[in-house]
Amino acid sequence: MPAGEGRPPPFERGSDGGWWFARWASRRVMAGVSGRHVDLQRWLGRLPAPRATVEAEQVHGASVAIIEGTARSLPPIAGCDALLTAIPGASLMIRSADCLPVFFADPLRGVVGIAHAGWRGLAGLVLARVVAAFRHSIHTRAEELYVAIGPSIRACCYEVGPEFASRFGPFVHEQAGRRMCDLPGVAKDQLRRCGVSPARVLDSQRCTGCEPQEWFSLRREGAATGRLISLIMLRP
Ligand SMILES: [Zn+2]
Repeated sequence: MPAGEGRPPPFERGSDGGWWFARWASRRVMAGVSGRHVDLQRWLGRLPAPRATVEAEQVHGASVAIIEGTARSLPPIAGCDALLTAIPGASLMIRSADCLPVFFADPLRGVVGIAHAGWRGLAGLVLARVVAAFRHSIHTRAEELYVAIGPSIRACCYEVGPEFASRFGPFVHEQAGRRMCDLPGVAKDQLRRCGVSPARVLDSQRCTGCEPQEWFSLRREGAATGRLISLIMLRP
């Protein structure tokens, strides 16, 4: 029997329409993405109390905020695209439709993080800055980190202009006369260069561009489309 047969997939949808990274990082960590047809109240209801939520403002930048103390939900943290916390029961959230939701966990020290990374954030090295924040603030070595990449637009659907070739080099390729960019590939390369072990990077492999029944896509549907909520939490 091949390894893994009979086990549930690592990124799976529940009956409430919300998705979870099952069997990732640690049982202490909950990480998921809302999906298009989620029953949000039921999905969020699976989080243990007290359910304080913290969101990043998301400015397509590369700033990281470390949330050190909260017993309640906070307004979006201004000017940042990534959040870290060691507070059990605080869920970190970002919203996206094509950009990458990227989840981080150091289960040993009980710290989780999340980043919103589109092409601007990746060009600004937002993921490298999250890894550096873990190293400097928590003393997590990069090779100890677990990372998961949620649904995002992928090389099959992300057609870009010629300026992307100089920006993302090997992750831009021509396909049937179209220039396509592989943002998850850029993300994994950035993580690998920081010392994150590729074996500890779990990719959902879901494309927001090809699966309109599951995800929102800014590219396909325009700015008025919805946003997927991604969250990560340490169980209290
Ligand atoms: Zn696609």
